[in-house]
Amino acid sequence: MARHHWSRTQLFAFLWLSSALCLMVFSIFFNGYVTASAVVSNTPELTVELQNEVTPYDVVPNLTHPLLSVTSSFDFDSDDSYQRFLNNDRPFKDLTYVPVDLAPINSNFTANNARKFQLRQVAGDAFADMAWHFRDEFKWDRLLIFSAYRSKAYQDGLLKAWCNKNACAKWWTSEHQAWLAVDLRVMTKWGKSISMDTPNKYTDWLHAHAQEWGFHNTYQRGVAIDGKIVEWRHWRYMGVELATLLRQNGQTIAEYYKALGIRN
Ligand SMILES: [Zn+2]
Repeated sequence: MARHHWSRTQLFAFLWLSSALCLMVFSIFFNGYVTASAVVSNTPELTVELQNEVTPYDVVPNLTHPLLSVTSSFDFDSDDSYQRFLNNDRPFKDLTYVPVDLAPINSNFTANNARKFQLRQVAGDAFADMAWHFRDEFKWDRLLIFSAYRSKAYQDGLLKAWCNKNACAKWWTSEHQAWLAVDLRVMTKWGKSISMDTPNKYTDWLHAHAQEWGFHNTYQRGVAIDGKIVEWRHWRYMGVELATLLRQNGQTIAEYYKALGIRN
C-alpha cells in the first residue's frame, strides 16, 4: 500500500511539474506575442532617437562608378515609378496619387501579421520573399513590420504629436505614401523584440542582402545628405537594379540623385 501511495504522490508531482513547465513555455511565447502586438499598436509612441550625423553603414563609397551609363533605365520623376525620388523639395506631382496595384503583404514569415500592411504588389512580393530568407538565415528570428503605408491623418498626427520634420516626412514627400517602404524590427524566436536603430547582426544582414530583393535603406547619412535622420529601420523598394547599384556605389538614393544633377 505504501508503495501505491508513493506512486500516486509521484504522479501528482509529475503532473504538477509538467503543468508548471507548460505554463512557463506558454508564458514565454505569449509574452513574445504581447510584445509584438504592443510594438505594432503603439507605433506613435516609439521613440525615434534623434541622432546627429553618424558614421555611415559599412559601405565603401566608390564614386568613380559610371553613374550616367545606367540612368536611362531609372525613372526618378514619375509618381508611380519604383525609383521615384522623394524629399521635401520633391513631393508627389499628383497630390491625389494612390498606386493602382496595392496588395496586402502576402507572407507567413514575419513575426506579426504581414497581411495587415499594404505595399505595391511587386514590393510586397519582394518583401515576402526576403522575409522568408531572413527567417531561414536566423533560424526563426523574424522581421516584424511596424509601419508600411501611413494615411495623411496618421502622418500629420505623427508630426503634430512628437515627430519632428527631420524624422518624419511631410505628407506627400514620404516613401511610406509611395506604398514602397516598411519600417522594421526583429522578433527573436524567444519573443524578444529587437530594434534596428543600432547595428546588429540583423542590420548587417539587411545591408548585405536587401538589394537582392530591390530594397534600399534610404536614410543612412543624416539630415544634411538624406534630408532625414539616420533610420536603419526604414527599407524602401526601388527594384533590384538601382538598389544593387547604390549598394555597390556605397551611396544613398539622395547622394546618387544629387551626383546626377551635378553631372547634368
Ligand atoms: Zn520609415
